Amino acid sequence: MIVAVDGYSSTGKSTVAKRIARRLGLTYIDTGAMYRAVTLAALRQGAIDAEGQIDEERVRGILPQVEIAFRGEGKEGRAETYLNGENVEREIRGMEVADQVGGIAALGFVRAFLVEQQREMGRRGDVILDGRDIGTVVFPDADVKFFLTASPEVRAKRRYEELRAKGMKVSYEEVEANVRKRDYIDSHREASPLVQAADAVVVDNSTMTVDEEVEWMVRVIEERCGRSVEQAKN
Ligand code: C5P
Repeated sequence: MIVAVDGYSSTGKSTVAKRIARRLGLTYIDTGAMYRAVTLAALRQGAIDAEGQIDEERVRGILPQVEIAFRGEGKEGRAETYLNGENVEREIRGMEVADQVGGIAALGFVRAFLVEQQREMGRRGDVILDGRDIGTVVFPDADVKFFLTASPEVRAKRRYEELRAKGMKVSYEEVEANVRKRDYIDSHREASPLVQAADAVVVDNSTMTVDEEVEWMVRVIEERCGRSVEQAKN
């Protein structure tokens, strides 16, 4: 079974995808973490300058040395992101990577490199992937597709609180500007822009609790796939 969860930045895709994965016994794949890991590698190799200009040929050159893996079970039963064997989970969530990831994710050759790996991971079994192009490009035949949305203010507030809880020094204004910037870049890029798949189930979670949202999405999956939570647990 393949479940696709797409949508704008900070709509809580990973939170619900992780919870649904646990409930239904699926493997969770965070495709945003893969774009973030490539961005971190590009920053470290000096392929992005202080003005945010990307040296595309340099990025192309480092891709063969980029090995991304999800390993271990963190506190919430979640795997963490490794770049060439190094745990980069915290670093890829910071503002430096968030500010540049939109530009790196707009490069067609970066997308081709990561989409191939995502398809390979999906072929191994029951998976739930979150991202921007899962239901449209990576797995257009996914069994169930969700498209998550919420107002930019609600999303910025959630991301701000999440970063502050992790001890990161950010301002609300900075986070809101980043959310809006990523919305714009993600929906206007030429390569696989963020669009809602025609057969996606839209979830506006501006006024829903995470519990309500997960319950509702699990019910949709069960209805469409006939897979029950009890079955998955046994
Ligand atoms: O989901 P997350 O916010 O971690 O993703 C980081 C960035 O990676 C997004 O803003 C988007 O530019 C890019 N992305 C993408 N396609 C995906 C997943 C993420 O372009 N499937």
